Amino acid sequence: QEYLNRIARLNPEINAYITVDTELSLAQARAADQRIANGDAGPLTGIPIAQKDIFCAKGWKTTCGSKMLETFIAPYDAGIVEHFNAAGAVNLGKTNMDEFAMGSSNETSYFGKVQNPWDRTRVPGGSSGGSAAAVAARLCAAATGTDTGGSIRQPASLCGLSGLKPTYGLTSRYGMIAFASSLDQAGPMAHSCEDMAIMMNAMTGFDQRDSTSLQREKEDYTRDLGKPLAGLRVGLPKEYFAEGLDAGVAKVIEAAVDEYRKLGAEIVEISLPNTMLSIPVYYVLAPAEASSNLSRYDGVRFGHRAAEYDDLMDMYCKSRAEGFGAEVKRRILIGTYVLSAGYYDAYYLKAQQIRRLIAEDFAKAFEQCDLILGPTAPSTAFKAGEKADDPVSMYLQDIYTIAVNLAGLPGMSIPAGFAPAADGKELPVGLQVIGNYFDEARMLNAGHAYQ
Ligand code: GLN
Repeated sequence: QEYLNRIARLNPEINAYITVDTELSLAQARAADQRIANGDAGPLTGIPIAQKDIFCAKGWKTTCGSKMLETFIAPYDAGIVEHFNAAGAVNLGKTNMDEFAMGSSNETSYFGKVQNPWDRTRVPGGSSGGSAAAVAARLCAAATGTDTGGSIRQPASLCGLSGLKPTYGLTSRYGMIAFASSLDQAGPMAHSCEDMAIMMNAMTGFDQRDSTSLQREKEDYTRDLGKPLAGLRVGLPKEYFAEGLDAGVAKVIEAAVDEYRKLGAEIVEISLPNTMLSIPVYYVLAPAEASSNLSRYDGVRFGHRAAEYDDLMDMYCKSRAEGFGAEVKRRILIGTYVLSAGYYDAYYLKAQQIRRLIAEDFAKAFEQCDLILGPTAPSTAFKAGEKADDPVSMYLQDIYTIAVNLAGLPGMSIPAGFAPAADGKELPVGLQVIGNYFDEARMLNAGHAYQ
């Protein structure tokens, strides 16, 4: 109730939630109270969390930030929503996001932009901007996000919180509305690595309804918390500290690296030479997958349907023209272009080959180090509207995060301090920690030791 009161007071301006349903939340809260009274409570029982509006949650409006799904009520729960429900967590609502998770500022949402609680004139990052703002403004204890190219880590960085994108395949994509299926992964956004470890324990696990879900034994992600870092080999990719990185952000990251040195880590310089190709590769592959995934929105079985049309083809065209926003249309156009006969080899196939080289860069780097440290985003939170008309500058927000998705590796952002913006305002800076496959427990411990 306390969180719902805060949401009622602050959400009309911050706009972190698209949907709040007091009845549904309080019913879950009462059930949690009952479990606690029965002595049947787990670590998440009664914990009020928020779900990104990309996850289907039975009985909840699930919009994915789009007019296309403005009135869609999910008839079933996503895999991770099932897990949180089973753990007794209370869902406070569905958080705002860039339309179909395409964006880095939450400005492409059909339901309006989200304010960054640290400075309401700035963006919270995206696409999980609503989740980030909700956690930062204490409109929930923690939230879920999804990360296709940086959408958990970049908003976590811009809003001063912790966010983790797990190894591809660890969290179920069932019931998570697809953007680019080979890159999409769900993860936690919270105030600490300890909270994220608890959420990971609940969120992960094999799901046979997701063909890329991994069949592995369940892990306890809290198991390493508190272990000393002595002997940990930390790699600094020289490409992450080059041109394009804000000087204030660089200073904070260097200070964080010093802190790791003091905690006993050994610092080694590494190189990820193909990193700078990750943006062009991503903007071929992600739109290609998106153009295919979004073909299901045809106005027939669910989603927006135009009110008037001449025939079936006209119904498709008008429904899609009205239902999708400009950025989504841009991605569909790029995607269909790179997949079309004659261009497939030149763009799509080439991008797949470079994707492999990017993954090999990381494999080589992990021969020299256990974890990789660097900035999450090249700058702190920017002003709303500042990049809205400049897609390329917006795409560059993910220069340090996208390679991780292309390789399928786990990546995390944790708060590292504050840097001054051009107007002198001190804003949060995120430190990125990249691990080898399935090394989330080590990453969370490294973050926990620093926090
Ligand atoms: N900003 C990137 C994009 O617009 C990544 C988004 C994401 O991770 N969902 O595609």
